[in-house]
Formats: sequence, C-alpha cells, structure tokens
Amino acid sequence: MIKSVLLWENQRRYIREALDTGELKGAIIPTGSTEQHNEHLAMIHDTASALHVSKLAAEKLYPQVIVTTPLAIGISEHWMDHKGTLTLRPEVFGEVLYDVCDSVRRHGIENVLIINGHAGNAGPVHERLEDFRQRLGVNIAFHSYWEAYTSELIEEQMTSGNCPGHASEFETAFALAAFPNNVDWKDVNYDNAKLTISDPSRAKNDREYHHEAKLATAEKGQVMIDVAVNWVSERMQSMIQ
Ligand SMILES: [Zn+2]
Repeated sequence: MIKSVLLWENQRRYIREALDTGELKGAIIPTGSTEQHNEHLAMIHDTASALHVSKLAAEKLYPQVIVTTPLAIGISEHWMDHKGTLTLRPEVFGEVLYDVCDSVRRHGIENVLIINGHAGNAGPVHERLEDFRQRLGVNIAFHSYWEAYTSELIEEQMTSGNCPGHASEFETAFALAAFPNNVDWKDVNYDNAKLTISDPSRAKNDREYHHEAKLATAEKGQVMIDVAVNWVSERMQSMIQ
C-alpha cells in the first residue's frame, strides 16, 4: 500500500507493490505556474493550489490514486512584463506533460487526470489532449480545478463575483485557507509600485484584482477548496471505476 498519496514521498517498494497488486489505479498530475500574482500573493500559487486540491482529492480515494510531482512552470508568456515570472513555450510544456503521462502509463497506470491551476495552460493542453489519448492509449482527462464551481456558488461566496480571476479575491481566499504564509500585504503600496504592464487592459485588470483581493477571507477559501476537492475526487473515482 502506498504510504503517501504524493508519489515523491514514497520509496520505490511502496509504489511497486501497489502496482503489482492492482491497488493503485489512477494518477493525478497537477499543473501550475511560477508567475507574478500581483503585489501580495506568492508566485507559486497556481502550482500550490493545484497540488493542494489534487492531494486532498487523492486522499479521499486512498490508496487507489497517486499524485505525481507537479509541473511547476507553465505557459506564462503573457506575464513576462512582471519580473520573476518563468515561462515555457507551449510546445515544450506540452511535451513535458506528455512525457509525465507516458511515464505513469509505462508503469501500468491507465487512468490519468491532469488537474490544472493556471489558466494559461488550458488552451494549449486542450489542443493536444486528443493526440495524447491516441498516442498513449489510456484514459486521460484534463480539468482546471475551478471547473468545479457553479455560477450560483461563485455568486454566493465571492463578493466580487469574480472567479478564478488572477490573484484576485478567489485565489487570495484559497491561499488564506490553505497556505496563509503565501499572502503578504506588508508594505504593499500599489499606487507607488513601479509596474511595467505594456497592455493597458491588463494594467486595468491588475489594479482591479489588487483591490478585489482585499475581499478575500480564509472562510470563503475553505468553502471553495472543499467543493473543488469533492469534484476532483468524483472525476477520478469515475475514471478508475
Ligand atoms: Zn493564479
């Protein structure tokens, strides 16, 4: 039996035995980014949030599902105006993701659920997904975890009405609930920040999101996390059945 749902925390014997007995049936691959998240939120947010949801969802299905090492750098060319953002070319990201799917397939896992936390990854992955399925011959699905949210839930929980929104109320609430040390408002002075956003509409959004983020609470974040975890575990459950 695996001792942790996180692949990298296991010694090889736990994984080998769980595969040999047929107990381990599915893998979740979290995908995120390392990119600017406005003035207050840590750059790892999309990776950390996708991993958080994936881990809790896999724990609900323990010991049938393993979570792989996340893809912590995504497709973030659109945020390169902000110092610190890391980006992969879409074709490189797609190839790395393919190879991770292929690795778990080669070990005999036939159900692969990719759980995404960065909107910029979604389009390029959707374009490749059918090709992945045909080349790998296994069951593969891809979802951004916020697909779990209905418009009613968003209206009820998010004062701004905005979800996911970049580093806005939703992502800030998630972080306050799951990893509050990633939220740092100390000495933030948006109006004095030397921002270099070349696209005027992005600059406008950035300012709006900065203000909306102040509406976030840990309580709202916890509600949203619980819904996403249930939704992802149900998706995985239906794949492994
Ligand atoms: Zn984000």
